[in-house]
Amino acid sequence: MLLLVLSAPSGCGKTTILTRVMRDLPGLVFSVSHTTRQPRPGEIDGVHYHFVEANVFAAIRNRQPTGFLEWAEVHGNMYGTSVDEVDRHRHAGQDVILDIDVQGAAQVRQRTRPVTIFIAPPSLAELERRLRGRGTESEATIALRLNNARKELACSGAYDYLVVNDQLGQAVESLRSIIIAERCRQRRMPDGWPAHWSG
Ligand code: ADP
Ligand code: 5GP
Repeated sequence: MLLLVLSAPSGCGKTTILTRVMRDLPGLVFSVSHTTRQPRPGEIDGVHYHFVEANVFAAIRNRQPTGFLEWAEVHGNMYGTSVDEVDRHRHAGQDVILDIDVQGAAQVRQRTRPVTIFIAPPSLAELERRLRGRGTESEATIALRLNNARKELACSGAYDYLVVNDQLGQAVESLRSIIIAERCRQRRMPDGWPAHWSG
């Protein structure tokens, strides 16, 4: 099975792309992260995130190495991927997608061998348009997220793949193709993430 790590500046279109790819491609499952952030309208606990209080987050974080596979503070809130969440899907033979920031991606690279994909906007001006267009963020949050985007883009070179989300259909096709190609690799995950056929 594959551990796919996707990172992108907020508002770049990652959720939109992922939703389409997961609709088209069976065998993919989204790892639901824990966060201390407040839910946005329409977000459901256990579906989009496990929304938890800071003390609950800290308790999981302190349970290393079995608590979080990775965790980070992003835009002033805590986010983490629990080991339990990933293991559950992994044992069910699913390819797991982690939607995490650049700090989290670096931690996952140190602990295992993920396939890493960075989704970039065509420009920072377009990113700002999309963030505003989504209508979920205050002005202060938009400024914070744009500032963070510059730093995140500077880390994109560390990823295996880069997908620029200009035309949505093409970006969806690129991500789909990457996953299909990675599923066909002969040599995969030598450090414990099993290939689905061991001969
Ligand atoms: P993210 O999950 O990366 O924060 P979203 O998927 O919520 O971003 O997308 C942010 C906004 O940009 C949404 O309003 C979405 O409809 C829009 N969007 C996504 N991809 C494109 C694209 N290729 N062209 C124009 N708008 C897009
Ligand atoms: P949002 O608040 O817009 O849902 O997410 C903000 C940022 O947090 C995004 O860059 C997203 O990828 C990142 N993020 C979400 N879940 C996790 C996680 O479990 N770990 C880390 N490191 N980042 C996460």
